Amino acid sequence: MKIKFLGGCEEIGRSAILIDEKIVLDYGLRPSDPPEIPVGKISPKSVIVSHAHLDHSGMVPSLMSNNDNSAPDVYLTSVTGDLTQLMSRDTIKVGRDQGFCFFGVEDIKKMVAQTRYVDYGERVALNSSDYGADYEFELFNAGHIPGSAAVHLKKESEDISLLYTGDIKMGDTRLMGGAVPEEMPSSDILLVESTYYGQNHQDRKEQEREFIDSIKETLNSGGSAIVPCFAVGRTQEVVMILHSYGLTPYIDGMGLSAFRTFRNHPRFLRDADELNNAFNDSVFVNAKKRKKVLAQPSVIVTTAGMLNGGPVLYYLKQLYDDPKSKVLLTGYQIEGTNGRRLVEEGCVETNGEVVKVHTEVEQYDFSAHAGDTELKELVSRFCSNGTELIFPVHGEHTAEFAEWVKDNFECDAISPKIGEEFKIE
Ligand SMILES: [Zn+2]
Repeated sequence: MKIKFLGGCEEIGRSAILIDEKIVLDYGLRPSDPPEIPVGKISPKSVIVSHAHLDHSGMVPSLMSNNDNSAPDVYLTSVTGDLTQLMSRDTIKVGRDQGFCFFGVEDIKKMVAQTRYVDYGERVALNSSDYGADYEFELFNAGHIPGSAAVHLKKESEDISLLYTGDIKMGDTRLMGGAVPEEMPSSDILLVESTYYGQNHQDRKEQEREFIDSIKETLNSGGSAIVPCFAVGRTQEVVMILHSYGLTPYIDGMGLSAFRTFRNHPRFLRDADELNNAFNDSVFVNAKKRKKVLAQPSVIVTTAGMLNGGPVLYYLKQLYDDPKSKVLLTGYQIEGTNGRRLVEEGCVETNGEVVKVHTEVEQYDFSAHAGDTELKELVSRFCSNGTELIFPVHGEHTAEFAEWVKDNFECDAISPKIGEEFKIE
């Protein structure tokens, strides 16, 4: 089996892993400005998409016309399919504003035609007549966002298997049930995400209380609270938290469309009624109503989560020098994003202009990723079940992660570089 890493190595973003030049696991973009995309030109027979976040699915439509032969089949869960279409259409819009273009509307239509829905636990055979060898894969709930999947792929002729975690979270959130690694089959190779390697999450309930107290304090002092969130997953989780503490947020941006998509797929949610109630009690904002929102102290849940575009920039422009208002970040801010710049330098860039932000900035951890302890437990479980080779991916500390594996287990581990290929026998 040949494994080639096209992105997401020693970095978070543009995840893309090519197997035997025929199957690609994820095909994402890195949401920097301008976005970065996987290296090389590929013509796979199929794409298996772990989940709908742009850094895993954002470039899938580009494969539809980038192919010398026919367009590849796209395998994913139903909710991931709907969300990927939604996100792809938005990428075209954002590209028009920011001056990039990776694919067009026709490619999205082709992607929809090529989509094959797969349920968790369903085994899908990819036959040698098309692939040159027989493969079989199966998806498992990854607990990261609704529809997210870990992929177990087996190459029958060589009797080699791999498990790709995608983005994974063990333990329930308000939005969804966590991944259960005990239910995943053993594998010879493990490709494990590393976002939080070396860092454990703080207690969730404690974080929630601090977050709510801070928002109440902001509102009481006459300021507004801006809560930048990913549209898919984080917005819904945060709105559910606010609702459970009796706060009514304004929701601005794509988080509303993502909620509507989730609503159509209730079996991927932990409690669909709770999510519906939280959204029914919220106030939706469009561009025309934005001014009105800021006329009184408000909680605004808005995109983008890392401040690279989206309505959050409107609110920041209005409030950047209001010391009574606050920005409450809700997750990891990756290198090269406005969010990271705000945390490290206290400023953001909008329309080519660097703006110093005088409002308080606070960082909370409502992460949908496994923390350090959970990642290590996962690796330990796979190693004791016969895994011989581990590739830590999707993180800024993958080299340390690989060293940790080698120091602790009879197992090889490699932190791959972008463009590197490994032949495994
Ligand atoms: Zn993700």
